Amino acid sequence: MRKRTSKPVRNLVLVLGDQLDADSAAFDGFDRGADVAWMGEVESEARHVRSHKARIAVFLSAMRHFRDALRRNGIRVEYRSLDDPANGQSLACELASAIQRLTPKAIVVVEPGEYRVRETVRRAARRTGVPIEIRPDRRFLCSRTAFAEFAEGRKQLRMENFYRGMRRKLGILMEDNSPAGGRWNFDAENRGVFGKGGPDRIAAPRSFPPDRTTREVLKLVRGRFPDHPGSLANFDWPVTPAQARAALGDFITHRLRQFGAYQDAMWQGQPHLFHSRLSCAMNLKLLDPLEIVRAAERACREGPAPLNSVEGFVRQILGWREYVRGVYWQYMPGYARRNHFRARAPLPWFYWTGKTDMACLAEVVGQTLRYGYAHHIQRLMVTGLFALLLGVNPAEIHKWYLAIYTDAVEWVEMPNVLGMSQFADGGLMASKPYAASGKYIQRMSNYCESCRYDPETRAGEAACPFTVLYWDFLARHRKTLATNARMGLQLKNLARLDGETLKRIRRTARRIRDRMGRAS
Ligand code: FAD
Ligand code: SF4
Repeated sequence: MRKRTSKPVRNLVLVLGDQLDADSAAFDGFDRGADVAWMGEVESEARHVRSHKARIAVFLSAMRHFRDALRRNGIRVEYRSLDDPANGQSLACELASAIQRLTPKAIVVVEPGEYRVRETVRRAARRTGVPIEIRPDRRFLCSRTAFAEFAEGRKQLRMENFYRGMRRKLGILMEDNSPAGGRWNFDAENRGVFGKGGPDRIAAPRSFPPDRTTREVLKLVRGRFPDHPGSLANFDWPVTPAQARAALGDFITHRLRQFGAYQDAMWQGQPHLFHSRLSCAMNLKLLDPLEIVRAAERACREGPAPLNSVEGFVRQILGWREYVRGVYWQYMPGYARRNHFRARAPLPWFYWTGKTDMACLAEVVGQTLRYGYAHHIQRLMVTGLFALLLGVNPAEIHKWYLAIYTDAVEWVEMPNVLGMSQFADGGLMASKPYAASGKYIQRMSNYCESCRYDPETRAGEAACPFTVLYWDFLARHRKTLATNARMGLQLKNLARLDGETLKRIRRTARRIRDRMGRAS
């Protein structure tokens, strides 16, 4: 048994559930004789959105593993478990009680990733009168100040400009002062689709069967959150830094090579395809994004991955991931209320059950409930696209995304949902709405082959709801969209529809909308 210090506590070092990094700034100057790390599991974090059981479990399991690693390293950790009868079950309450109990001279914390949590922590410190020191998060490659400098004076924040700056700053995929291969962007080579037979055999991502700690967590989650969505039957996420590194190595060896070509493709029964499944580990800070990017770069230099794949992958992490975090902090808290199209529809209930006759949505929501995972195009161009076309209130769809994916943390989820998929920020992030008909899904997947609807049909019983709602969306927002030059071609096609056809489309759209409203 470790002997506890009787000395008064100097720093109470808060370690939040998505800050599981032993090298974080929170531990700079940590004095084992005088400082105490504090971690807490609270129900309110699982319930403020109705979290997928796997999302709750991945946080709790990774936190418990981290606690044990800190203790093995001689660090005193005050840890409040979810099933502790004395648990007040909210971050504010538990923090206040830890501060009262331990009476630290100061509180130290790495900047929380979420606005709501940062305010909670600050308030708790203010109420107790203990000074708080907020330190930078070194697991991001662009500081909030550097992003603010990039954003200054710009009306639109294009990711591409930001990304090029990051490549230059960190010297990633650079040859002298130019991009490797002479181009910044290999997008044109990254839109491959599978032939009729689908993808060749793909090595399944490395799986991490639950150990004793995880099994205890799974039991706890099953018992306390039985009414929450999702399954735990397939839980095999990496929950320690060593496992996360093994997952990275497995991805680089087996799937990075084809990541680029097929990053936008979808296929029934293939939830992961060539994707890395690393977002969750990265967001919990089990894995350093720079280590990932450098490993990918090495695979390009030394094999086995081609430049188009590596550049595509690096762009997601060095570009998109850092960029959305910058957008989030630049525009919160107002960003959460954006609703450019004044969308008001409720979220259809099948988002929580997967029970729908639309094959694409049944597949994507179904795999989401099974694994807590969907890849980017499934999120953007199936669940996100349908909500956009239907006119779902952005705040509602935001809550769904925050609840349903194991990698969901607000700083990355919210700009992707409100900005990229719903265009709720009016074009701050995306240059035009990602609006498309069912024909896009038909081209990029095999979902339509088993569907009762026809993506080419625009009205009537057999019409694909995506296609119907796409034309209806263009017609409903014609005036607003006309101010966007990049929507010119789509609006020209709308104008070519004769009056009778458009009327039939809009009648069908009304029926779909009524049906969705009733079902919710
Ligand atoms: P890969 O396809 O292997 O990509 C590699 C890494 O790049 C990811 O692990 C991720 O860290 C990063 N990345 C890729 N695309 C993005 C992006 N658009 N924004 C930020 N980082 C990106 N990602 C989350 O981590 N949490 C979320 O809550 C989340 N919500 C999303 C909601 C919507 C509507 C959309 C369109 C995207 C969302 N994303 C989110 C981004 C992306 O879909 C996931 O990061 C990705 O699917 C995770 O799977 P992967 O690790 O296999 O990714
Ligand atoms: Fe989805 Fe439409 Fe294709 Fe059916 S036909 S799978 S609803 S895109």
